[in-house]
Amino acid sequence: MLLRILLRTVCVAWVLSSCFVVAAQTPRTAAEPSKTPDNPVLSGYKREIAADIDAMKEFTQQMVDQVFSFGELGFQEFETSKYLTDILRKNGFRIQDSVAGIPTAWTATWGSGTPVIALGSDVDCIPQASQKPGVAYHDPIIEGAPGHGEGHNSGMPLNVTAALALKKLMERNRLGGTIVLWPGIAEELLAAKAYFVRAGVFKDADVVLFAHVGSNFGVTWGDTGGNGLVSVEYSFKGESAHAGNAPWRGRSALDAVELMDIGWNFRREHLRIQQRSHYVITNGGDQPNVVPANASVWYYFRETDYEHIKEMWDIGDRMSKAAAMMTDTTVTSRLLGSAWPAHFNKTIAEAMYANIKAVGLPKWSADDERLAVALQRELKVPEVGLAKEIPQLRGREVMPDSEKRGGPSDDIGDVSWNAPTVTLNYPANFDAGPGHNWANAVAMATPIAHKGVTAGAKVQAMTALDFLMSPDLVASALAYFRNVQTKDQKYTPLIRPDDKPAIWLNEQTMAKYRAEMKRYYFDPTRYKTYLEQLGITYPTVR
Ligand SMILES: [Zn+2]
Repeated sequence: MLLRILLRTVCVAWVLSSCFVVAAQTPRTAAEPSKTPDNPVLSGYKREIAADIDAMKEFTQQMVDQVFSFGELGFQEFETSKYLTDILRKNGFRIQDSVAGIPTAWTATWGSGTPVIALGSDVDCIPQASQKPGVAYHDPIIEGAPGHGEGHNSGMPLNVTAALALKKLMERNRLGGTIVLWPGIAEELLAAKAYFVRAGVFKDADVVLFAHVGSNFGVTWGDTGGNGLVSVEYSFKGESAHAGNAPWRGRSALDAVELMDIGWNFRREHLRIQQRSHYVITNGGDQPNVVPANASVWYYFRETDYEHIKEMWDIGDRMSKAAAMMTDTTVTSRLLGSAWPAHFNKTIAEAMYANIKAVGLPKWSADDERLAVALQRELKVPEVGLAKEIPQLRGREVMPDSEKRGGPSDDIGDVSWNAPTVTLNYPANFDAGPGHNWANAVAMATPIAHKGVTAGAKVQAMTALDFLMSPDLVASALAYFRNVQTKDQKYTPLIRPDDKPAIWLNEQTMAKYRAEMKRYYFDPTRYKTYLEQLGITYPTVR
């Protein structure tokens, strides 16, 4: 408690000492977000860049549709990465391929000197989430194929548009600074960003502007209250035998998997309420008449901080050994992914929020609204339509652990402990689907996503401009990072020195569907939009 009070005092003191010019001009209460310096040149640049991004909206729409049509799973984002880096290379960005030993990872850099602004967003999709865009019921493009059931097709197009507009404006006005773009590879597996950190991708970054699709605009600062995790696969080895003739000669690896899962499900009652844990059996044997000699189970262990995540991981390891003892099998494990809980930067969040307010929500059409309401009706959730009001900026340095109730994870958490970072949520979707589901793909290649991405690109570019134009603001973001966020909490990676990215994941699934999916890749030389290519009337509702 004392620590919390101390932290709060430090933070208030820091805020008071870093209110820039604006504090003298406009007194504000603690609840009001701070504003970036009132600078007529900067305001002019922001108007210019917003107009430029509006003029790029067809190009932005093509990128959103193109990446949607690729529908690539984590670590298999080959088409997506080639497509995006080709655009950036043609526009004068320097590309570094295979970052951190991950074939689909890259960075694209333009400009020179400080500040270094890093723009990132995830690009991978969800298994079995194939869905025709603009259709308000389940209607896959290819049954069983992967699809953008989280909307990760939209974030990097947003960043590319923002970066190209920034580059033009910086050239025109001879502004210094460096823009770096980087894709979130295999985010659904929480499997790359810790390796990016280890490879030094963020060591020179002054400001990291991450973007993630949402149903509204939003940005937060401080402790997000979400969970971090480790993703661990346990593989058991036994002895095969004729299951009818001599089962007593076999040692079943599948028995070990099942006993571990039963043990875990009993233990669940005695775990903290903040935890989330789940598993899939990745290998359950070949056929019933052969005692399974090999079997594997893949767990996500989610908790609120590093220590609790490590504790869960230890319990899992112990339980796997116990299951091996019970079955006279042996067990090995490998780490497939990890994520720290995120903490976002106050200075950047406040600057970004002011830009969100300035840009405002897109103007939704009657057709956009019809699609949203029809899907909400289909899924029996409140028929609220699309976002109509921007929520308040929220944040606090420390959320008491007792208030946390677990939840999802994103490996942007690792980045957030290594450089001042925020996540921009932009309104390219609407509330309806349960997440990681075909329903969350419905909006993602429609005018809803196109407008949301254009609006988001403006916020991203305007926020980058705030920091390019104000060394004080860069210093303030760094001061929060150093003196508040990381004052008592230091980053220790969950990945161990010998761990390597699990780049083989999803290879077989993509190989199974790739050829058929290619027939549906968006062809912008023949069609204006992906909806037009697929022959979908917008919106298609029951
Ligand atoms: Zn995501």
